[in-house]
Amino acid sequence: MIVFVVCCQLTALVVRAQEPILQLPDSLKTDSIPPPLYPFLSNDSLISYYVVEDTAEYTYGMICADLDYFLTTYPDLVHDQPMGQSEFGLELRTIRIGRPALNKRSVFLVGNIHAREDFSSKLLMKFLNVYLLAIDGKSTLYPNAKLLLDSIDIYITPVANPDGLKIAHDDLAGIEQAFALVKDSIFVEDSYTEWKANGLGIDLNDTFDDGNFELKKGGVVHTKPASEGYKGLIPAEANETQALQNFVLAKRPLITASFHTKGNIFFWADAKTHPIFKNVDTEIVQKAAAVSGFRVSSISKNPADYGCGLENYVRSKLGLIGVCVELSRGDKTRFQHPDNMFNLEVWERAWQLPYLYIENAVIYGSRIEENARLYMGN
Ligand SMILES: [Zn+2]
Repeated sequence: MIVFVVCCQLTALVVRAQEPILQLPDSLKTDSIPPPLYPFLSNDSLISYYVVEDTAEYTYGMICADLDYFLTTYPDLVHDQPMGQSEFGLELRTIRIGRPALNKRSVFLVGNIHAREDFSSKLLMKFLNVYLLAIDGKSTLYPNAKLLLDSIDIYITPVANPDGLKIAHDDLAGIEQAFALVKDSIFVEDSYTEWKANGLGIDLNDTFDDGNFELKKGGVVHTKPASEGYKGLIPAEANETQALQNFVLAKRPLITASFHTKGNIFFWADAKTHPIFKNVDTEIVQKAAAVSGFRVSSISKNPADYGCGLENYVRSKLGLIGVCVELSRGDKTRFQHPDNMFNLEVWERAWQLPYLYIENAVIYGSRIEENARLYMGN
């Protein structure tokens, strides 16, 4: 099958289209699994507990307001986690779901590293909303949610690139002056709605310091700041990249899942780091494919294509599981599917994925830790 995705993985996919997809049963080779329509609340009277906008534009301000609502409503479960600031000074809002005392194990769910890919933040926010209701006994969608609190902390950064998201949404309040200073020096592909980079025109998922920065070419098509495809002059040049790197170095989440759009596919392994994981990565991606119907990419071979994403950074720097999840169907354009397609395109296929990563970080916890320990040589 030829795969067209205009996202972080564009150039890599041109190469990968020649490679075989990982061998899976026929039933898992396509994204044709009919999505079940699960009710997500125990009964309709609980609808007021559901706050996330899932059929229209969901702005950064709305996301922050909903995070504040969760912090206030679930003070013993939802905790503010300082992460740092964007280039234009916005907080990289991050929350921890867990007991008041830190758990030694964690999982990290990240959205919107790429600005226009706002289905990713919407998925994580809707998941967060329903997961908290599940802990509270108001939803049966995630049956072990409460039990898992004993075993793991969940960190969620729904919007890792708030400046970029605000640019893509033409929602410049709070960043107007900072953006005006650089706007004219940044090349724009298509339109501002299709903005993918951070506020300074650096494509964040080409910037992580995984040792491949000099080699990295895939998707990097500009030598100056642009709405996409410019990696900056040095690794981790962007504030957002540094903040995410510092966070994973400090917390060492067993699994980091970075959500993007488009393609309904997992980019989950590269030839350099795959041996570290002794097939734990393979087993987890096969489970993820089974519940979503998404395709599983072949193992990436050329660091010039795959390098410098957050998922690559956690694999090469920490020996921990890192996966890039591409939500929604791919096509040949930069354009995102309409806001009102979110439930059909994303939620109905991917609602189990965040939960699956949490559960499997617990199930495979000891093996992931042992593999990382051997890799790091301590
Ligand atoms: Zn992306």
